[in-house]
Amino acid sequence: MTYPTDLNLPLFERARALIPGGVNSPVRAFRAVGGTPRFITRGQGAYLWDANGERFIDYIGSWGPMILGHGHPAVLEAVHRAVDLGLSFGAPTERESELAEAIMRHLPSIEELRLVSSGTEAGMSAIRLARGATGRSKIVKFNGCYHGHADALLVKAGSGLATFGHATSAGVPEVVVQDTLVLEYNDVAQLEEAFALHGKAIACVIMEPIAGNMNFVRASIPFMRAARELCTRHGALLIIDEVMTGFRVALGGAQSLYAQAIPGFTPDLTMLGKVVGGGMPLAAFGGRRDVMEQLAPLGPVYQAGTLSGNPVATACGLATLREVARPGFHEALGARTRALIAGLSQAAQAEGVAFCGDSEGGMMGYFLLPALPRNYPEVLRSDGARFNRFFHGLLDRGIYTAPALYEAGFVSSAHSAADIEETVAAAREVFKTLHN
Ligand SMILES: *Cc1c(COP(=O)(O)O)cnc(C)c1O
Repeated sequence: MTYPTDLNLPLFERARALIPGGVNSPVRAFRAVGGTPRFITRGQGAYLWDANGERFIDYIGSWGPMILGHGHPAVLEAVHRAVDLGLSFGAPTERESELAEAIMRHLPSIEELRLVSSGTEAGMSAIRLARGATGRSKIVKFNGCYHGHADALLVKAGSGLATFGHATSAGVPEVVVQDTLVLEYNDVAQLEEAFALHGKAIACVIMEPIAGNMNFVRASIPFMRAARELCTRHGALLIIDEVMTGFRVALGGAQSLYAQAIPGFTPDLTMLGKVVGGGMPLAAFGGRRDVMEQLAPLGPVYQAGTLSGNPVATACGLATLREVARPGFHEALGARTRALIAGLSQAAQAEGVAFCGDSEGGMMGYFLLPALPRNYPEVLRSDGARFNRFFHGLLDRGIYTAPALYEAGFVSSAHSAADIEETVAAAREVFKTLHN
């Protein structure tokens, strides 16, 4: 819909004078797709409302946390109760143990964990811990995977396996990324070669099990198996970054799905965030007890946080996990998400538009490509201009999706069959305009 006076515009102008780019996290600025970001005033269930009072069906869900939709009554009640008892104490509370137990009940690879406030902190801390525990400095990450914005992870591949990475952000000294080896996702041979060359120096391999920061790309079973075996053989730790996938794709996270295909599969460390905080700043990292006990105050690896384990955030996370642990939750969510991808695929096919999609639980991705990409270079074959037209076509019809083709989408338990139908109907109209 177009409004005679778009009230988002003056809000954006004001914000731009105060906050770099008008946003507190870059993807919100719509730079990739053009146009004015919507200023959100309210969320309820599957919907968001912007400054114009326009309603959107929300497939971003705050980039993952809002698996129950906005304003779930049980979550709000738990948060309200916690708020009344105090906002932050900087001292231990029983609820931190309750949340740790709730997490470990579903992720048996986690024997001890520590709560932090963001996925970035979880990644930064897990890598320091892996380096401290192994006494090694080199780390392996994969092209297109995101693990937060810690310095050592803002890196792109060097030329060839013998050379390490180059910083992708100004302000990151080359010396900070020279121990980060960036490899292609789903490339078993390259990973084997890297371990053959550097095995004794590699502290850890860090990976997204389903990469949601290049839209939606699954780690193949052979790739995951190779990562596990090579880490074990060379004494490196395998860090599975489930900040996006944890409690989202399955109650036991993506690692539970890989454990079904790879007998005995278990990561050494896991990162969690997003759903685990239910929309509050909360994240976690945890895993093997012997490794976790290298952390201060028990061990030599320092890690800390003023607001870590915050009583309001833990209440929000606990209430959220209680809901997602109900029998059949992920089955129902998965069916709804699959219905959306199937509906979009059919609509695209009917209009002769190349399209493919995939989903797991409440996480999904789609590409205006004939086949699903397996790594970042294949994702980059997407036609950005057409993606942007698809994005704006949906937005104009009240469907709020990620404003960049590198981002996964999310369905919540609040999305109804009617919401899915409305979305598919809108997409069909947009596909009609994408022929040329
Ligand atoms: C979002 C995300 C992070 C970073 O989490 P923040 O809370 O934004 O710092 C790390 N890893 C993955 C896989 C993510 O999706």
